[in-house]
Amino acid sequence: MHHNPISITDLSYVYEDGTQALQEINLEIKATERVALIGANGSGKSTLLLHLNGLLLPQTGGIVVGEHKMTPKTLKEIRNFVGLVFQNPDDQLFMPTVWEDVAFGPLNQGVEEPGLTDRVKRAMAAVGLDFHRYAERTASNLSGGEQKRVAIAGVLAMQPQVLVLDEPSAQLDPAARRQLIELLGSLPLTQLIATHDLDMALDLCSSTIVLGQGRVVFSGPTEQVLSNPEFLDRYSLEPPLCYARPYCQIEHAPCLSTPALASAERMG
Ligand code: ADP
Ligand code: MG
Repeated sequence: MHHNPISITDLSYVYEDGTQALQEINLEIKATERVALIGANGSGKSTLLLHLNGLLLPQTGGIVVGEHKMTPKTLKEIRNFVGLVFQNPDDQLFMPTVWEDVAFGPLNQGVEEPGLTDRVKRAMAAVGLDFHRYAERTASNLSGGEQKRVAIAGVLAMQPQVLVLDEPSAQLDPAARRQLIELLGSLPLTQLIATHDLDMALDLCSSTIVLGQGRVVFSGPTEQVLSNPEFLDRYSLEPPLCYARPYCQIEHAPCLSTPALASAERMG
């Protein structure tokens, strides 16, 4: 296990049309940590994630993944190390059957039978998809929650060290979202999760990175940043519901503002 599986130094990125999407990003992701990546729309979350498995290459600055500095020559090693689950399953699932979707990554890695079927079965089991029930189904006919599981299985089948997910709970109904949270919590992998779902971030992630206009504006304990409404407001974010509603207050939620508490007591 690598001590810091992902290390980013002075990373900046400008799209072809001149949009500056990332500016001087410096970050370390520690092994086995689950980290939330939050920020308003357009703050650079997806652009940063696309860098982590080499779909975008650093223009300025550098990324080290495992023992490999990211360059065009190390892409194979990088993609074996970091698995990216796209926001939209349609971008990831395009084969006729679930079996083929999950086998696609390991096949590209050169995994052959009988190891291949074993990888597919294990990955499907890890995400709670019954092999016999789902292997021959077509991903496009599955529910959003099932599709998300297939997409995650396809990445897990490549046996990455780091799992990177772009807004995994978006578009899921509450039950599927809850199951996803349980699934991610059960996977013993380093994870970086870009999300607008701050309650999920609070549930799953000990650390949080906040992006504002392409810059890292906070990196530290999740509870510290999510319990600071003024800071969140500055970056067009809102506190998690469990902090924002006094009557839902959980025992350990820090620093609700005193007026809110007082009014809750008056009401209660
Ligand atoms: P987020 O995922 O946080 O919503 P993105 O990384 O998608 O943010 O976008 C960061 C910035 O880069 C935004 O200003 C967005 O408009 C811009 N951007 C994203 N993709 C492209 C692209 N393909 N071409 C030009 N600009 C882009
Ligand atoms: Mg995005």
